[in-house]
Amino acid sequence: MEIQRLGVALILSGPSGSGKSSISQEVMRRHPEVCFSISCTTRAPRGAERDGIDYYFLSRDAFEKKIAEDAFIEYAEVHGNFYGTLKSEVVDRVSQGIDVILDIDVQGAAKVRELCRKDALFKACAEFVFVAPPSHAELERRLRGRATDSEEVIQKRLYNSKLEISRWREYSYLLINDDFAGAVEKFNSLLLAFRMSTKRWKEDVNG
Ligand code: 5GP
Repeated sequence: MEIQRLGVALILSGPSGSGKSSISQEVMRRHPEVCFSISCTTRAPRGAERDGIDYYFLSRDAFEKKIAEDAFIEYAEVHGNFYGTLKSEVVDRVSQGIDVILDIDVQGAAKVRELCRKDALFKACAEFVFVAPPSHAELERRLRGRATDSEEVIQKRLYNSKLEISRWREYSYLLINDDFAGAVEKFNSLLLAFRMSTKRWKEDVNG
């Protein structure tokens, strides 16, 4: 099959509890052809999370080995644990025209933005979307409602959320998740628009 366009590397950030995972999961259910970049993390699995599906759960040593092997596009310390995006989850796919969603924090997104300056593939593929909760009070309610995290973890996430939200202007698109169904529609619309961006289409699109 002839490839007509590069895939979208859709970078999605937002504080824990903003709903970004639920929104992206629903959009991926509608578009099974869209891939999710499974990150590596040194944090322990939460609830029903499974290795190789939600994350690649690694020891600190194994994570450091991947850093030494230059396996990551970016990595960062978030809430006291390491998280990183593997090149193998993104590069070949977008080159082949497959859209990939990267759920990464503000530090990781800043590193990808930096990469876009020198890497033509990322420059062409990356789109940056920030998902924000409607208010801090609502974010706290959602984080407490999860019931999987300790009070200490919740406090750390609430503190970090303020720092993360303050960086929303670094993104090209802001999606306020005040109503889940509406946020899914907006995210879906963004994906469809990103697919039409001329910057990813090949020269010979009609010839
Ligand atoms: P959680 O522990 O709730 O799954 O994720 C915590 C934070 O880490 C979220 O903000 C999430 O977006 C971020 N995160 C997940 N994977 C990566 C990654 O590969 N790189 C970076 N920089 N952040 C990540």
